[in-house]
Amino acid sequence: MSEQAVDTSLLDRYECRSCGYVYEPEKGDNSNDIAPETPFAELPINWRCPVCAAKKTAFANIGPAGTASGFKENLGYGLGVNQLTPTQKNILIFGALALGFLFFISLYGLQ
Ligand SMILES: [Zn+2]
Repeated sequence: MSEQAVDTSLLDRYECRSCGYVYEPEKGDNSNDIAPETPFAELPINWRCPVCAAKKTAFANIGPAGTASGFKENLGYGLGVNQLTPTQKNILIFGALALGFLFFISLYGLQ
């Protein structure tokens, strides 16, 4: 019995590709008498989706809770610079240079 996948996280969630049900290891599965903290890999081989009765093989690993969405949220931070395209960054840089040049020229104009 070497059913356990040691290299994957024990808290990885699995989504049923038939109905969208998500198995969360922290919660287990009440309707099938699966205790909380049971990794997906340790579910009985005859375990079925509690919603649509799909087999374990119909489930896809969607990773542990929170990581993927948290990463997307972080992209919005940092004054929004991370959301600029390379073209927009160039406009920003050359715009600053042009402003500096105009300011430099205006100094001569004052004298
Ligand atoms: Zn299902």
